[in-house]
Amino acid sequence: MGDRYFVDDPVTTDHVTLAGTEAHHLVHVMRATPGDQVTLFDGSGDEFSAVVDRVGRADIRLAIVSRQRVDRELPFALTLAVALPKGERQKWLVEKAVELGITRIVPLRTSRAVADAGQQARARLGRAVIEASKQCGRNRLMAIDPPRAWEELVAETLGQPCRLLAHPGAGGNPTAASIQSGADVLAAVGPEGGFTDEEVQLAIASGWRAIDLGPRILRIETAAIALATVISQCTRQSSPS
Ligand code: SAH
Repeated sequence: MGDRYFVDDPVTTDHVTLAGTEAHHLVHVMRATPGDQVTLFDGSGDEFSAVVDRVGRADIRLAIVSRQRVDRELPFALTLAVALPKGERQKWLVEKAVELGITRIVPLRTSRAVADAGQQARARLGRAVIEASKQCGRNRLMAIDPPRAWEELVAETLGQPCRLLAHPGAGGNPTAASIQSGADVLAAVGPEGGFTDEEVQLAIASGWRAIDLGPRILRIETAAIALATVISQCTRQSSPS
């Protein structure tokens, strides 16, 4: 796949100038020189072949050679509502979520949740989204929403066809017909202390299906990965070229 760099603004002209982290990496780490070829993406779903044109100290100008639509997304939108773990585990979860093709993360506020994803935390996680997208070849950025209370999310998504809630001992299996039909999926993972009985009951009464991921208790990020994997494996996708 080669080295990929993220362009913050939509690419609309035949030249772009990178600054900040992306320029630093190209100029000082990769020691790019005029004529070097790189791949750019701008989050639109397109990928660009580009050639280094001019190298500055803190920025770098590239000439766009071609534009291709390269789709490495899941064939349906997968939203993960999750009570985020703390610190480095939070960043790790976001990185893996990007790799697995999750479309959007909704940080959850639940009775037993500990971490809250404020604006600053979300900006930091946004950088992790870019880094993971560079590495795994995604050309669309996974969104990270402002935090939402569980009750609020349940009320807002009443009409959505496929809503799955991971809950130990739930007994349900995630290979639902609604996933196979290509419908968008909303999947929820609770905090380390678990969803309360009231939170689970509210969801079930609102049409969510409770899903069991096996007889062991998984950490939040493991449960999120396991859930995203079983859901995405219900559809077939080809490997990267
Ligand atoms: N003590 C808590 C465990 C929480 S683990 C309890 O008994 O509920 C954190 C979250 O990961 C859970 O809220 C759930 O969404 C998910 N999870 C962990 N292990 C799971 C399993 N075996 N099956 C389904 N979901 C699981």
